[in-house]
Amino acid sequence: MPRPRVAIFDFAGCEGCQLQIVNLEEALLDLLRVVDVVEWREAMSEQSDVFDIAVVEGAITRLEDEERLKRIRQKAPVLVALGSCASSGGLNKLKNRMAMSEARRLVYGRDGGVSRLDTAPVKAVSEVVKVDYLVRGCPIDRREFSYVVRCLALGREPFIPGYPVCVECRIRENACRWQEGEICLGPLTRAGCGAACPAQGAACLGCRGTCDDANLEGMASVLAQYGKSREELESRLAVFLDPDGKGVSHA
Ligand code: SF4
Ligand code: SF4
Repeated sequence: MPRPRVAIFDFAGCEGCQLQIVNLEEALLDLLRVVDVVEWREAMSEQSDVFDIAVVEGAITRLEDEERLKRIRQKAPVLVALGSCASSGGLNKLKNRMAMSEARRLVYGRDGGVSRLDTAPVKAVSEVVKVDYLVRGCPIDRREFSYVVRCLALGREPFIPGYPVCVECRIRENACRWQEGEICLGPLTRAGCGAACPAQGAACLGCRGTCDDANLEGMASVLAQYGKSREELESRLAVFLDPDGKGVSHA
């Protein structure tokens, strides 16, 4: 059976998710036994117009990127959004809280001659084209990426948890960050990272997007229990879980 052809593309992001793939190291060689990577700017010079699985990293921040993404989608039987930037817009969506002229001024300065540069409100990949699978996280969990790609190569549906990060914290017997005086978004955030941040003594920032049935209103009693304010919670939510400032989003 021929190996599925995989092409990896990038848009606006730090490329940290692609770096996670590179960091698979020996496991990457194993993965290359089940798929054939035909395009990946970060790691090879070859390009291809023919592929079975398109993996897209990064958010969409320019109109010309929308057109490029649509062309990729037209050629791709399966499209995977890679990381928070692609899945939800990620950190890039903080830009949407201001006018585009203000975003240009903040980044390039008052008179950098950059007003000619195209920039537009940030979109997740799914806001431009249909997405078949999401590999969440900022950055992604490289083991999860490998698992999802293997499933697709074998024609199986990958299992992605719908329960919150708190479940994985219990399994790992992590100290609860709330009890350490922090605001942790584990109760609202989709598991799958192995509660990576609490395991290292840091609160969850919600980089994997919301879990199924995320209960924002239910957080009121948690805030009261630990003496935290709604404003403090909202400031945390703003980073990943509320990229448009319209309430908890589903990456
Ligand atoms: S999701 Fe995070 S690590 Fe991945 S490209 Fe975006 S900013 Fe970088
Ligand atoms: S614990 Fe939260 S912020 Fe940390 S990797 Fe997991 S989902 Fe992302």
